[in-house]
Amino acid sequence: MSDLVIRGLHHAYVADTPILRDINITIDEPGIVAIIGPSGTGKSTLLRCINRLIKPSGGSILFRGDDVAAVQGRPLRELRRQVGMVFQEYNLVERLTVLENVLTGRLGYMSAWKAWRRQFAAEDIRRAFDLLDFVGLGDFAKQRADALSGGQRQRVGIARALMQDPVVLLADEPTSSLDPKTSVEIMELLTTLANDKGIPTLVNIHDVNLARRFAKRMIGMSGGEVVYDGAPDGITDDH
Ligand code: ADP
Ligand code: ADP
Repeated sequence: MSDLVIRGLHHAYVADTPILRDINITIDEPGIVAIIGPSGTGKSTLLRCINRLIKPSGGSILFRGDDVAAVQGRPLRELRRQVGMVFQEYNLVERLTVLENVLTGRLGYMSAWKAWRRQFAAEDIRRAFDLLDFVGLGDFAKQRADALSGGQRQRVGIARALMQDPVVLLADEPTSSLDPKTSVEIMELLTTLANDKGIPTLVNIHDVNLARRFAKRMIGMSGGEVVYDGAPDGITDDH
């Protein structure tokens, strides 16, 4: 069964203003799938539909066979656990430590306040330390998030997403706030994850060259539609 099957997806935030028009995408292999296209074309709307931050107006998104649009309550929380998300602005809780930020991945979105109170399970703490080692921040666990550089913050964001044991990973412009060298390092990390840990990873990215360098597949969007879906070297500047 494919991890993700999107059929006839459309979305309008406001009636009569379609943002996504008839999107059809199947994701069933590890590796980086880069979504490229001009600003405002619906790339981040697409990712937010997949993890149900927004409910699409129509069409279907099947995640391992389950319709994302139909789930609510506990199954919706389980879906969000299985779909890891990495953000452009990292979305860390600045006053928490690096370790606590990673542990919030265990709690789900919007429940960072629990991290203040909650005694985490020893095995979760061990796992968070392991993930911090994996992303190269083993020595920073006890520092506050607001003491870190942008690249380090994004590494924390990635470790937090991994804390959920995601089946797929979504990254919305993960390098757009970073300098070119750091952007390459973050893309290398995501590529390692996507290939070695076998996690299909959808990355919205506006830098086509960066996308070409790391993606095994590229999806070009324009005007809310998919206008290219295939090998990175097949994409031209027309798309
Ligand atoms: P991209 O990620 O390709 O830059 P977005 O998905 O962010 O595109 O936005 C696509 C369009 O949807 C834009 O015109 C944007 O203004 C609009 N949009 C995004 N979020 C909302 C929202 N919450 N309400 C209304 N319109 C929105
Ligand atoms: P980006 O360009 O990084 O995709 P935007 O600046 O378009 O992000 O959007 C930032 C936030 O504002 C998002 O949460 C988006 O949903 C919201 N937003 C964007 N456009 C609109 C809009 N036209 N109406 C309401 N909310 C919007």
